Amino acid sequence: MIISRADAAPDDRRDELAANLAAVRQRVADACAGAGRDVGDLTLVVVTKTFPADDVRRLAGLGVTDVGENRDQDAAPKALACADLALRWHFVGQLQTNKARSVATYADVVHAVDRPRLVAAIDTAASKAGRVVRALVQVDLDETGAGEGRGGARPDDVPALADALAAAQHLELGGVMAVAPLGGDPRAAFDRLARIAERVRRDHPRATDVSAGMSADLEAAVAAGATHLRVGSAVLGRRPRNG
Ligand SMILES: *Cc1c(COP(=O)(O)O)cnc(C)c1O
Repeated sequence: MIISRADAAPDDRRDELAANLAAVRQRVADACAGAGRDVGDLTLVVVTKTFPADDVRRLAGLGVTDVGENRDQDAAPKALACADLALRWHFVGQLQTNKARSVATYADVVHAVDRPRLVAAIDTAASKAGRVVRALVQVDLDETGAGEGRGGARPDDVPALADALAAAQHLELGGVMAVAPLGGDPRAAFDRLARIAERVRRDHPRATDVSAGMSADLEAAVAAGATHLRVGSAVLGRRPRNG
């Protein structure tokens, strides 16, 4: 039997993504209701790392507007393949300065700026790309000093980094970002982030982004005032490798 391409083939993966997305949106709505917040104040960034461009396309068809990636090698070709979709691309991972040039060509928001050298590298790269890139200061919320290698600036260093981002010609300071430390209470960690965000807004009133919360702890992030949730596995399923 010849199956023509025009046949509307059932797309099980689309259905799976639709169901997962609906469940995540419901969790966000419930968390907002519990916190007395407006769902419209939350941006859901669906982290598509390790999943193919076809999934990004399916998500766009399901109303997703913001996607996140953490490795330039994967993200660059995906962003290119999905250039027609008018998505906002968020680079959420640790960024090496030598990747800044590539990332600045497609990323609208870089979430994990944690050192002055990176500010300079992204600014130069954005200038070369003729773009303005929004950038967040990643804060290390691990008070134990165990250093899990998740990155982030020490809270004391955040104001200076925020100033540097705000002063950069081709960058726009968006706010702050963090990953909850493993094994700790995410709510307490995100409350610390909220205080740091408030401190940044004192100097930079328009830097209102607070990027916090992943599949496992998005409720705590909503309760603590996050504006951007970075959700991967709850929408896409388990990652084939640990991206
Ligand atoms: C992978 C990743 C996420 C998404 O994590 P999930 O647990 O799959 O939701 C969020 N933020 C960063 C920085 C990530 O690397």
